[in-house]
Amino acid sequence: GPTLKSMFDQTAAKFPEREGLVDERINVRWTYGEWKEEVNRFAHTLQDNGISKGDVVSTVLFNTSEFMTVLFACARLGAVFNPINFRLTEKEIAFILADAEPKVVLYERATSPQVDPVQADMTDVQFWSIDEKDGKGEYLYSKLSSDVTNVETELDEDDTYAIMYTSGTTGKPKGVLHTHRDMVDQAMAMALTMRLTAADKGLSIGPMFHCAELHCAIFPRILVGAGNAILHHYDPKETIRLVREEGITTMFGAPTMWHMMIQEEFTKEDITTLRQGLYGGAPMPPSLTRELYDVLGIGLVQAYGMTEMGPAITVQMEDEQIKKAGSAGKPLVNQEVRIIRSEDEESGTPEDICAPGELGEIIVRGPSMMKGYYKRPEATEQSIRDGWYYSGDVGMMDEEGYLWVRDRVKDMIISGGENIYSREVEDALSEHPAVEDAAVVGEPDAKWGEQVVAFIVKKEKVSAQEIDEFLLSGNRLSRYKRPKRYEFVEELPRNASGKLQKFKLREYEEVSGK
Ligand code: AMP
Ligand code: MG
Repeated sequence: GPTLKSMFDQTAAKFPEREGLVDERINVRWTYGEWKEEVNRFAHTLQDNGISKGDVVSTVLFNTSEFMTVLFACARLGAVFNPINFRLTEKEIAFILADAEPKVVLYERATSPQVDPVQADMTDVQFWSIDEKDGKGEYLYSKLSSDVTNVETELDEDDTYAIMYTSGTTGKPKGVLHTHRDMVDQAMAMALTMRLTAADKGLSIGPMFHCAELHCAIFPRILVGAGNAILHHYDPKETIRLVREEGITTMFGAPTMWHMMIQEEFTKEDITTLRQGLYGGAPMPPSLTRELYDVLGIGLVQAYGMTEMGPAITVQMEDEQIKKAGSAGKPLVNQEVRIIRSEDEESGTPEDICAPGELGEIIVRGPSMMKGYYKRPEATEQSIRDGWYYSGDVGMMDEEGYLWVRDRVKDMIISGGENIYSREVEDALSEHPAVEDAAVVGEPDAKWGEQVVAFIVKKEKVSAQEIDEFLLSGNRLSRYKRPKRYEFVEELPRNASGKLQKFKLREYEEVSGK
């Protein structure tokens, strides 16, 4: 069956002369034909250094052409790719490396502060830097093979393509195992949904180690033979420049990236080639959705999902952005979604289906579901039951079949016996013109069990009382859902993929006190 190797090879055979990869950082501008030669050179290099089928290759890289090239080199060899978040600390990286047990780790100057200290304790692992004279590792290019002949291995569609560690907003990160076939299935569904063709050209501004950028944007483009430009790390000005200079037609970004981009000064002329944008990984307040629509002049496509599922499960199309602002859209062609009842933290069965409008846990099944968690059979059994993946997200399906994601089950606030969903409160807060960003968490309360505390980033001067009056006016939010306390902060803690790190807000609560 199809694999990432066969997908890449087919595109290289169909479009050898088309531009495949652009990386300004090291003056790379390769056609698909040239890119394939580089992939083979990397594959030979890995092979010459003892890496073969089933071995793990880790990366701690920002967005780089080397990341993409070593990924497809691993696919050729049947080696397992393990992309690690470049924002993690030395300790977190050490944890993942000990768990994944790679034979080689690729890193760069920008990540050597976290990677170098780890090297001393891992003497049987090879560390290769993609930058010269950098840290303690060997220099990749000094050992790069010149052999461009095709590296071939026996490869099955069910072979593991990657171990991807989830952001771990709770507990230790777990390695999600995905097969080659999972990726082809996800790429086909996304390419179809995004109406991608070989005439498209994408820009990677979102972190490539995260499946949202890699699986929802990059792989679908490679499937159809579209072009791929790379921005090393996110910068809104650079994004606008590259869109203009490279003639970018499609781009994924976390909600915060789109938000930062429209704070810049530019005209629609600068981004005239951009025909579509994609966001996901975290919710976007409807107020920002509307602002983006006005400033960019295009509707964005939203994807909702999680690493375990490929990740995309549902998409909200451009034309639904305003009409169904706040919803996550409808399931992809090959994903099934159900909302099921859950009683007091205990999840129900897949047959306990909620009525339209009723909130419950979101469960999903489809061909791009993970094989399981690496070395964690119990965690796998807990999250995949009766063939369904239990997402831990609370949501509902409306009468028209649109999914609305409300909260993480664990972030739900219960006050006076009533459930309060963060998202509803956060969206209402974001409607206030002086509010730049907002997040709410529950805080223990003797009388109500929990009460809502809001963290606000201000755009301009505003008081807690003014915000509270705004929520009360025009029935924006029921009285009991209103925050009982406001904290004004400089910024909200988010991880590299734009997700709010609520555990940090709770820690802040404990330290700063009431
Ligand atoms: P990850 O596996 O790191 O991609 O995280 C998956 C989680 O991110 C999901 O379970 C959701 O809680 C959240 N998420 C992803 N996409 C969206 C979206 N479009 N809207 C709201 N939450 C999202
Ligand atoms: Mg599969």
